[in-house]
Amino acid sequence: TGLVLGLLYVPVIMTITTILFSGRSRLICVSVGVIMGMIAIIGSSREALAISFLNDWRLGPLVFCVFALYAWLLSNWIREREQLETTTQQAQGLALAANTDALTGVFNRRAVADFLEQNALSRRQCGVIFLDLDHFKLVNDTYGHDRGDSVLAQVAEILHLRTREGDFVARWGGEEFIVIVTNVSAHQTTDIAEYLRGHIEQATYHEVPRLTASFGVAHTLSGAQLQGAINRADQALYQAKASGRNRVVSDRSGCSDK
Ligand code: GH3
Ligand code: MG
Ligand code: MG
Repeated sequence: TGLVLGLLYVPVIMTITTILFSGRSRLICVSVGVIMGMIAIIGSSREALAISFLNDWRLGPLVFCVFALYAWLLSNWIREREQLETTTQQAQGLALAANTDALTGVFNRRAVADFLEQNALSRRQCGVIFLDLDHFKLVNDTYGHDRGDSVLAQVAEILHLRTREGDFVARWGGEEFIVIVTNVSAHQTTDIAEYLRGHIEQATYHEVPRLTASFGVAHTLSGAQLQGAINRADQALYQAKASGRNRVVSDRSGCSDK
């Protein structure tokens, strides 16, 4: 009887499963059907089992009902999981898009606010590097707004490529960018800014023969003071502009290393 069940009901179960379910649910239900069939076949070879459980025509419909119920519950569970996965992915995609600058692909100003919030209790020392492209209006006026846009994207790429994995790079707005580096001293922050300044100056930009940027740098010993460091870096940037551009000016008031 078990053999008959295995050979007779399993194909029926598999056919119905194939019609009712798709994708992962179908695969799982067919596998379950095959396993149940195998159990029936193995059971039929054991005489005691065959006599007590399998030697009855009602067992077939029973196996089928149990299987159908099981398959239905399973497919519901799988469908819900798939929906949850899709929703989570969509939410993550939206969150990322909301924090990404569309032109340059780096973080935007909104992400800076999130970064400050996430690091408010951090005890890691941080360096804030503010930069503003020099005479960028002239680039737009001379080579056009589109060329200006691609220069901005290229600068963002330089910043992204020349900083470490965990460093934070964002477009503050217009032609201003902010880089926040963690676990570095004030001195190292200035060195990183100088390194970035050199790369921006040395890069070749399509049509635009020369591009430089001015940098303001500040340092803090805790995440709670990050907003203050941003303000100080902004002031230092102002001094870098006032004192001739294409240079790094470091604010020393929050300096941690002597
Ligand atoms: P400075 O050295 O003093 O910073 O001079 P600047 O010309 O860079 O500064 P200013 O603030 O006078 O001009 C900034 C220019 O940046 C003006 C604006 O057209 C340009 N800009 C801002 N956002 C964008 C953008 O998304 N794309 C392009 N192409 N240009 C932008
Ligand atoms: Mg500016
Ligand atoms: Mg500028």
